[in-house]
Amino acid sequence: MRTRITLACTECKQRNYNTKKDKKEHPERLETKKYCKFCRKHTLHKETK
Ligand SMILES: [Zn+2]
Repeated sequence: MRTRITLACTECKQRNYNTKKDKKEHPERLETKKYCKFCRKHTLHKETK
């Protein structure tokens, strides 16, 4: 059961990425370093609803 999630930049709060994850394997909030074009650098992105 894979669920669509949105990844938002923790610095500017922009929602930059849509992805999917397996909620059984990753019940916690996903956190990943990705490039933010608004910050123009790599920042930590967190899962949002
Ligand atoms: Zn940003």
